[in-house]
Amino acid sequence: MTATAQADQHWRRRAEELDAADPLAAVREEFLLDAAPDVVSYLDGNSLGRPLRATADRMSEFVGSQWAGRLIRGWTDGWMQWPEVVGDELGRVALGAAAGQTVVADSTTVLFYKLLRAAVDAAPAGRDEIVCDTDNFPTDRYVVEGVAAERGLTVRWVRTDPALGITLDAVRAAVGPRTAVATFSHVAYRSGYLADAPAITAAVHGAGGLVLWDLSHSVGSVELDLDAWGVDLAVGCTYKYLCGGPGSPAFGYLATRHQGRLRQPVQGWMGHAEPMTMGPGYAPASGARALVSGTPPILAMVPLRCGLEVVDRAGMAAVRAKSLALTTFTLELADAWLADLGVDVASPRDPGRRGGHVTLRRADHREVTDLLWERGVIPDYRDPGGVRIGPAPLSTSFRELYDGMVALRDVLASRPLP
Ligand SMILES: *Cc1c(COP(=O)(O)O)cnc(C)c1O
Repeated sequence: MTATAQADQHWRRRAEELDAADPLAAVREEFLLDAAPDVVSYLDGNSLGRPLRATADRMSEFVGSQWAGRLIRGWTDGWMQWPEVVGDELGRVALGAAAGQTVVADSTTVLFYKLLRAAVDAAPAGRDEIVCDTDNFPTDRYVVEGVAAERGLTVRWVRTDPALGITLDAVRAAVGPRTAVATFSHVAYRSGYLADAPAITAAVHGAGGLVLWDLSHSVGSVELDLDAWGVDLAVGCTYKYLCGGPGSPAFGYLATRHQGRLRQPVQGWMGHAEPMTMGPGYAPASGARALVSGTPPILAMVPLRCGLEVVDRAGMAAVRAKSLALTTFTLELADAWLADLGVDVASPRDPGRRGGHVTLRRADHREVTDLLWERGVIPDYRDPGGVRIGPAPLSTSFRELYDGMVALRDVLASRPLP
């Protein structure tokens, strides 16, 4: 056996040992894996989670018995309350949020707009700045620009290193008496950097501002404790680690202490205190319901409910432990195989500062990603030169990750060093 084959056998055995010791290994079998026979290794759980078997059944069952069976009566049977019911469930299972503060509605972009507007509109006179970082997710930066223009505010941009993310020191230096709101991603979409949310929240509060967290890349992979951290507002996606399906609705969190005082601007009938009276003039519903604007996307919440059931059963502590074990294994394989092939790790090595994915950089990674997709190995690509390895703790096995990393190494080795 060659030295390379021997080394491979060592790492393959290690992957198999990790699978054997994985308390969540059986959860993988609950996913619809056999429907994707061409997929060798799915490493984009941070962009779109795989579907559960139960989701396919539940969707079909919902159409047959709920939609077809109940028709318009479904709204009075309970659909009307799904934004809060599913929001509370999500809050309990994944956010560390007590009931009454979370709704499921809209997209992350739209909810982000609504919450940001609510926050800046409530700021005292003289607090005319929104603090945001230059490497925040594009939609957040664009909405921040739009809200600033709409309300005559200034954006104070914090410059962040794309291989890292937003730090406490950088936030401390940026906030002050003019801060209305500071908004950041908890896990940076590019590097996977995990921001120190409790400390940053406290720093923004210390300067008298509010904080709005985008949890899209942390919910369902990192443990969250929004109430304990004193977070004011938060939004996030449900189609990533929560397996809600393509375009599934987002969630918004508004801490109880701000309810009633902070008002979102899209005052539609479904956020009205009495939607069915259809009366003149808008009066917001009490509680988090006031974050809702139009008719709730009931059908699109069915898969999310399945995803939340599985996360609840697994428990977020176990999910985070597996996620860290997966990214640690990714780093071990990158160090063993890829460093000599010109690959840099563009993610935190410190597990305390690492979210759920790892970014590996080489100048030709865009083309490499295309070649991997042709082989059924599916990470994704983000500039500059970053292949994002995003294993999903509920559905990715260590062996699946190993197979993907072998393919990455082989494709890189077959190409000239850029
Ligand atoms: C994925 C993601 C979004 C996506 O927002 P949509 O409105 O669902 O398109 C927003 N913010 C962050 C940080 C994300 O990672």
